[in-house]
Amino acid sequence: MRILLIEDEGALARPLREHLEADHHIVEWFTTLDEANSAIRTLEYDVVLLDLQLPDGDGLSFLSAVRDRHISTPIIILTARDKVSDRIDGLNRGADDYVIKPFDLDEVKARIQTVCRRSMDQSTQTVELRDMVIHLSDHSVIRAGQDVRLTVKEWTVLEVLLRRKSKIVPKESLEAAVYAYGEEVESNALEAHISRLRGKLGKDLIVTHRGMGYSLSP
Ligand code: CA
Repeated sequence: MRILLIEDEGALARPLREHLEADHHIVEWFTTLDEANSAIRTLEYDVVLLDLQLPDGDGLSFLSAVRDRHISTPIIILTARDKVSDRIDGLNRGADDYVIKPFDLDEVKARIQTVCRRSMDQSTQTVELRDMVIHLSDHSVIRAGQDVRLTVKEWTVLEVLLRRKSKIVPKESLEAAVYAYGEEVESNALEAHISRLRGKLGKDLIVTHRGMGYSLSP
């Protein structure tokens, strides 16, 4: 597995990296959010190990940004904070698990295996919604027994909304997911994708929350 380790304390990161490398994993270790951000934009990782207190910011903001960009790589938080609120905050923002420091190296290894197994199960998941069956693994939608053809961008919008269940997703988050970094976003382009999705999947499927964003109708 390719593992992204974001941790500024060498005394914690080095033994963890050695332990995982001894298990034949590839570990890329960064000590700042800035470096980690460029790494995750360019490469696919199987799992991310994320410290929360980093020299250039809070790991939770990295976590939110990654999920807003529609990157579903499992993320395990490494934290010295044992406050329940921090753990809940992390899980709410899309972390898959957390380990409290000081951690046992074998425990981290076990958690990695668990979240990766869970994420593989999810990737083969099928969602039933109204008169539709949505296959997340092969990006297909069957509505009332008929195949519905979606463009890549329409699919991305649908998938982001599905993964957030009926929570409101800000317009900016959807745009970040749909458009590649640096790609120019025309105004109203997102609205156009949403309007076509409504046409294909049902006109009241996606709810517009004026000034806030969009959600799937509950
Ligand atoms: Ca730290």
